[in-house]
Amino acid sequence: MTDPKFYQLTRTERLAWLVAHEQLSAEDAAFLAQQQPLSDEIAGSMIENQIGQYQLPIGVVQDVVVNGQTYQVPMVVEEPSVIAAANNAAKMVRLNGGFQTHQQQRTMLGEVVLTDLPDLKVAQNWVLANQDLLMQIAQAAHPSIVKRGGGLLAIKVTVVDQTFLKLALTIDTQEAMGANIVNTICEAIAREVQNDLGGTILLSVLTNAAFGAVTVATVTLDPATLATKQLAGNVVAQRIVQATRFAQVDLPRAATHNKGIMNGVDAVVLATGNDWRAIEAGAHSYAAQSGQYQPLTSWQLEADGRLVGRIEIPLPIGMVGGSIGILPAVQVAHRLLKVTNACELAGVIAAIGLGQNLAALRALVSDGIQKGHMALQAKSLAIAVGATETEIEPLVAQLVQAKHLNTATATAFLAQLRHNNE
Ligand code: NDP
Repeated sequence: MTDPKFYQLTRTERLAWLVAHEQLSAEDAAFLAQQQPLSDEIAGSMIENQIGQYQLPIGVVQDVVVNGQTYQVPMVVEEPSVIAAANNAAKMVRLNGGFQTHQQQRTMLGEVVLTDLPDLKVAQNWVLANQDLLMQIAQAAHPSIVKRGGGLLAIKVTVVDQTFLKLALTIDTQEAMGANIVNTICEAIAREVQNDLGGTILLSVLTNAAFGAVTVATVTLDPATLATKQLAGNVVAQRIVQATRFAQVDLPRAATHNKGIMNGVDAVVLATGNDWRAIEAGAHSYAAQSGQYQPLTSWQLEADGRLVGRIEIPLPIGMVGGSIGILPAVQVAHRLLKVTNACELAGVIAAIGLGQNLAALRALVSDGIQKGHMALQAKSLAIAVGATETEIEPLVAQLVQAKHLNTATATAFLAQLRHNNE
């Protein structure tokens, strides 16, 4: 008999496996095993009007190879098929040498916008002539980020719609996502500009179009590793290219194409305590920057028949700040993942997004998405209709054979199962 696969183990056995393979400390495994809720003190101080806690499972994608390093990637997600698909992609990509990633730069952008200025051209020239002063204001507004080697790098000033004076601030936030750092600097600069020029401060805030933190991941695949039971690998590869081309010219498809990518991206962003709304806003604005909403990935065949995939996605990820230092489960997730800086974390997340896209496209262009989802959906349905732990397995076995996978069928099968067991 072969050893059971990781997904076939019980949760306790999975934790023991991770400890035995030195991926997780015994203390962290014990923490996850106990599933302790947040203390009232932490939960109550994180948000306004806190009335309870909300649970989601943490899972792991095994052995994701990125830039030659192997990661156990934590994911927090409610959708049953996401981790299975990510694991499937990680395995295919491992056979092909892993993902390559890079983040060329890591800066955040802020916008300071003033209106009601008597002469916009004069105002624009004043900003151009007073860059040093504004740099000093920024340093004084957030001295600690300057000490850490970051802070305001550049100011671009433009007149927008003959109405608005816009200062676009490029800011190095080091290991933080940086929303608070950027907002603090923006507000200080806005006050200075208004003091000197008059007008009204309309807004001064970070933009989530974090195009200064674009991360690229690529993978090159031997088509043979993509073969399914029905289709040869080179056919799967060609269809993946075609499906991506279709997403480039069909907005309804592009939206779903990108949603599949975000299935993986958001799950890691959430597990690592980052702001997934910021990542979503950044990703979709990047996809729409040409004026036509585009897929975030591209897939192309090389002359030798190999399939090359690439994702470009803004990932303003932090290793500090926000809830990262507060939530104990997030800290365990970081210790499992073992990334050492924000750039490395962004690379892993981009790789997961590209892998998620590969798994989804491969399934779509071959067996269709439902086949792989069926067993997982059946399990969710079994739980939803009230199956107990011992009833789930036999009920799922029946449901995957059923003509209609729905609540009525699941309820009827469960009643039958209970009747048979009486
Ligand atoms: P924080 O203000 O929570 O944390 C950043 C702080 O961490 C820095 O100011 C710095 O403070 C400290 N720090 C410690 N080590 C480092 C390091 N190596 N590099 C950089 N900073 C370090 O978070 P952010 O400014 O990152 O803001 C993120 C939060 O803002 C998230 O919770 C997000 O949800 C929220 N937010 C998002 C918005 C958006 O996306 N539009 C808008 C508003 C808020 P010190 O130097 O003093 O130690």
